Amino acid sequence: MTLDDDARRRAAAQRAHEIAGCGVCDSDGWVTGRQTSRDGITRDAAWRCDHTDRPLPHGFTPDGGVR
Ligand SMILES: [Zn+2]
Repeated sequence: MTLDDDARRRAAAQRAHEIAGCGVCDSDGWVTGRQTSRDGITRDAAWRCDHTDRPLPHGFTPDGGVR
């Protein structure tokens, strides 16, 4: 094991902890759902979660609804 491996493992553990504490995203840190654009067309969409309370993009509805 090198220091690099250790740092990588810590970073992964930190990320897993953030994801576990976040009620919105999946285990890879993505929020999947559907997004309705201004012209009313709804498409499948995925949003990269930053595990904060930052609002989701306008028109975006996560699968399973907003928690
Ligand atoms: Zn998250």
